[in-house]
Amino acid sequence: MNVQPRQGEPIIVNVALGTRAYDIVIGRGVLASLGQRVAALKPSARAAIVTDEHVAQRHLKATEAALAAAGIGSVAVTVAPGEGSKSVATFERVCEALIAAKIERGDLVVALGGGVVGDLAGFAAASVRRGLDFAQAPTTLLAQVDSSVGGKTGINSRHGKNLIGAFYQPILVAADTALLDTLPEREFRAGYAEVAKYGLLGDAAFFAWLETNWKDVFAGGPAREHAIAVSCRMKAAIVARDERETGDRALLNLGHTFGHAFEAAAGFSDRLLHGEAVALGMVMAFSFCVRRKLIAPADAERVIHHLAAVGLPTRLAEVRGGLPGVDRLMDLMAQDKKVKRGRLTFILARAIGQAFVAPDVDAADVREFLSEQLS
Ligand code: NAD
Repeated sequence: MNVQPRQGEPIIVNVALGTRAYDIVIGRGVLASLGQRVAALKPSARAAIVTDEHVAQRHLKATEAALAAAGIGSVAVTVAPGEGSKSVATFERVCEALIAAKIERGDLVVALGGGVVGDLAGFAAASVRRGLDFAQAPTTLLAQVDSSVGGKTGINSRHGKNLIGAFYQPILVAADTALLDTLPEREFRAGYAEVAKYGLLGDAAFFAWLETNWKDVFAGGPAREHAIAVSCRMKAAIVARDERETGDRALLNLGHTFGHAFEAAAGFSDRLLHGEAVALGMVMAFSFCVRRKLIAPADAERVIHHLAAVGLPTRLAEVRGGLPGVDRLMDLMAQDKKVKRGRLTFILARAIGQAFVAPDVDAADVREFLSEQLS
């Protein structure tokens, strides 16, 4: 697979959802064209930019300027950085701020930030006045390849993550890959786990390309854009087939059933970032497949080798502060929404690039496997 450098020309991936179809525009510097792109979709709109304090410091002025260049006036609504902002209290504050700023149906909400801001602002847009249009301007790698695409929006409940929300598609995603230059390396690496996930779940050639080219993805430039575009194309195709996750879309959860349990055990804190948990979860999923004789051990070894080379955790012992015992981890997995009547739904694989949904995995098998991994 060759990377075709496209000097200055963004890559456009369409999410084919009929009347709710939209473009993902990917490239270095595409933020500067945000106003123009919004104006083409929504003439004479005003905008509310929802962002967090870290992102506001670095990229809010440029976003306001990009909108102003197309004659679009904007107000900013800034929230605290971090998962804590996906709360009912912050959601209420954002909704009230949108209403106070008189953002109406003809206007637009712009989510400028990582997955936290995208999920929160998207859900506020879905809710205020029964639905305001919104655009995603994702600023983390995770948001550019995953959370800004596909229309899952929402906040957390005290009972668990993402339990309050809506499927609500944006009208545009503008993924400026240069914004990732200011992202802390650990966050970039965590987002990379989701990039690798696309190769592992459905595109062996892409995974092989990543094994050779990952350093260029981290460095920026055409390889980064290519990796983001391939990831978005795969997510867009899956979402177009199964918008509301009644089937195929579950493939995107590769590594997530194990991963969510680890993330929850670490308190959704910086002891283990979401992408790091997904990396560990993918290692567990592939190792579990070896145990069940579904795949060759060499495939699982390749997964471990690549993720470790990038600097992602691949052993449970690497979780800062350690993990609880198998009973607690099994409880956390049972609480996850991917569980039906006591049987666990896992995304397993027959080879690299060939994942499938296994809805009926025996919990006893998983328990035994996890105990071995923990010891
Ligand atoms: P995040 O939004 O918390 O961002 C991570 C950190 O990076 C924050 O401190 C943020 O302020 C900072 N940051 C963001 N962009 C920056 C930049 N360009 N420069 C410097 N700092 C920057 O985390 P995330 O990993 O982007 O998203 C995680 C969230 O996404 C979780 O809540 C998860 O549930 C959600 N998610 C949603 C979906 C979906 O389909 N909706 C998919 C995956 C994950």
